[in-house]
Amino acid sequence: MPPVSRIPLIGVSTSITVDKTPERAYVNSTYLHAIQQAGGVPVPLPPQLSPRALGTVARELHGLLLTGGGDIDPALFGEAPHPTLYEVAPTRDALETAAVRLALERRLPILAICRGIQILNVALGGTLHQDVGTDPGTELRHSQQAPRDQPSHKVQVAPGSRLAEVLGTDEVEVNSMHHQAVRAPGRGLVAVAWAPDQIIEGVELDDRERFVLAVQWHPEELVSHSAPARRLFSALVDAARA
Ligand code: MN
Repeated sequence: MPPVSRIPLIGVSTSITVDKTPERAYVNSTYLHAIQQAGGVPVPLPPQLSPRALGTVARELHGLLLTGGGDIDPALFGEAPHPTLYEVAPTRDALETAAVRLALERRLPILAICRGIQILNVALGGTLHQDVGTDPGTELRHSQQAPRDQPSHKVQVAPGSRLAEVLGTDEVEVNSMHHQAVRAPGRGLVAVAWAPDQIIEGVELDDRERFVLAVQWHPEELVSHSAPARRLFSALVDAARA
C-alpha cells in the first residue's frame, strides 16, 4: 500500500437532474468502483459547485474523470438543436467545461468517457455529430440493445497512439450507448480510434508529455471482465500519482 498522501484524488464529474424535482446530483457507481479498484479516490464534482468552489477543489485533485450522461448543448458548438436532443443540462456543461480548463492548466491527467469525450472536444473548440443514427454515413447501431456490460461493436485503435499503448491492443470490443459523437476534433486533439462505420471512438491530446485520453464507449461497465478496460483506469490513476 502506498502512503495515504500518495493515493491520487480523482475528480469525477456528475449528472444533474433535468426537469425533475427535487434537483439532484448523481453518478453511476461503476465509475466510483473502477477508480477505487485502480487505486485512486474518486471525488464527485456536483454540477452545482460554484466556479470558486470548483477552483478550490481542483487545487487538491491529481486527476479528472469526465463521465457519461445526456447531450451537450449544441449551441456550444454553434448548431441548432437536433430533434433527438435530450437531457441538456447547461449547469453541467459549464461545470465540466471549467473543470477541463482547470485540469489542462494544472496539467492534470484526464480520462474522458462517452459524454466526457464530447464535452472535452467541445471545450477545445471541436464539433459533434448530434445524432449518429440520422447523420449520413453512420449505419452501425451505436445505441446497443445488449446489456451495458456486453460489447456490441469493434473499435480499431491507431497503432503507436497513447490509447493503443494503454489498452495494450490495436483492436477492442466495446459497448456502445451514445447517439452523439465527435465530428471535428478540437484544438490539440487527434482521433485515434474508430468504429467500423468510421465514427470516432477515441481521441487524445497530441502531446505525449500529457495524459489526456478520451473514449466514446463505457469501460467502467467492462472492468470486471476486460483487461483493456481496467488498464484505462489504472493508467489514469498511475498518471495522477506521478
Ligand atoms: Mn459506438
